Amino acid sequence: MSTVLNETHAPALQSWVTSAQAVGGDFPIQNLPFGVFRRAGSQESFRVGVAIGDQILDIGAALCAGAFAVQPAMVQEAVKACDSTTLNAFMALGMAYWSPLRLALSRLLRVGAAEQTVLQACLLPQAQAEYAVPAQIGDYTDFYTSIHHATNVGKLFRPDNPLPPNYQWVPIGYHGRSSSIGVSGQAFHRPLGQTLPPTASIPEFGPSARLDYELEVGILIGCGNALGEAVALDSAENHVFGLCLFNDWSARDLQAWEYQPLGPFLSKNFASTVSPWVVTLEALAPYRCAWTRPAEHPQPLPYLDSPTLRAEGALDIELEVYLQTAAMRAQGQAAQRISRSNFHHAYWSVSQMVAHHTVGGCNLRPGDLLGSGTQSGPLREEAGALIELTVGGTQPLTLANGEKRSFLEDHDTVVFRAYCAKRGAARIGFGEVAGTVLPARVAAGT
Ligand code: MN
Repeated sequence: MSTVLNETHAPALQSWVTSAQAVGGDFPIQNLPFGVFRRAGSQESFRVGVAIGDQILDIGAALCAGAFAVQPAMVQEAVKACDSTTLNAFMALGMAYWSPLRLALSRLLRVGAAEQTVLQACLLPQAQAEYAVPAQIGDYTDFYTSIHHATNVGKLFRPDNPLPPNYQWVPIGYHGRSSSIGVSGQAFHRPLGQTLPPTASIPEFGPSARLDYELEVGILIGCGNALGEAVALDSAENHVFGLCLFNDWSARDLQAWEYQPLGPFLSKNFASTVSPWVVTLEALAPYRCAWTRPAEHPQPLPYLDSPTLRAEGALDIELEVYLQTAAMRAQGQAAQRISRSNFHHAYWSVSQMVAHHTVGGCNLRPGDLLGSGTQSGPLREEAGALIELTVGGTQPLTLANGEKRSFLEDHDTVVFRAYCAKRGAARIGFGEVAGTVLPARVAAGT
């Protein structure tokens, strides 16, 4: 872990890609997030790019154009690893390669760079691009790191025992399903499954009636660890390539019936959506903040605690949820913000998630995804899921156009956005992750 800032973070830096200087833009030259893209509607191969302003720098095209010809060997190696349809090979290289490439890109994209003319031909407007899931995700683990979410949902599922006794000791997680993870723009059918109506003793089968989103941060593993070799807390972030936005769609009625004793299953495995851009931990360095644990709470066991964690283990990332219904879309109305939260509320840090995940010897691999769990803040309006915002559906939201929502309806689009901003640092953003609910498919045999 390190808060060390370098020339790539300097707030005064400007890019010759003038849109990078747009006020409130997500992708100034201090950000430089990685993703996988191609020309929209084409049959081209997906390839690695870096967002700059409203453009994408095509790394492979820049290599072919000779833009990296005079760069050091580490940069050459990093760029070669980017010659792929996923970020996995580049992510597997580690910080010793990620950081030099970031520095090289920062210098190449700066005002006055000699390579400007060559690189201008390697840009594609983001408006003309489509994206793929940025990495081949082998394993996906979903955590539960917001104590506010855990308490709010716990009250609804178990009024007598909202917060399980292990919660304040163990970063709780479960192994999720990577095959159904899609990129922003994903549309999926409302899932079918078993639910137990409130007064019934026999379950029903049908479409979920309590479909929800979960506002999460996705953590992409860069270099892995060998089977049997735990990753210590203070080196945990060396294994993390970067963060993205993550929507862990959840069918609450399926979940309530199935989750005991082994946790979520069909209620979570039908779709999850990631944002196309991965913001590196290095880009987030200006936004580190102290990780704290209230004095009256149990303090972490030694393998989950360190002075470095306490000093800078948390990240100040503003998170927002927007909803656009079919009626809003038809009337040309933009998505409406329905809640906002911040990643610094997380009860467990990124490093604690990695250290705990591996402490028994579990090996993480490049491209593995950790979900942070729903990031709810302490206030009701900071809830990261509808089940909390509407108190289990009992207090529906009223939208600006008069529509009401307890849970998601067909053709609803949910959008998450996130950004970091403070005095003395460049504002950087994550772009967005959007997903749309389609009507349930009629089940075979019904
Ligand atoms: Mn989740």
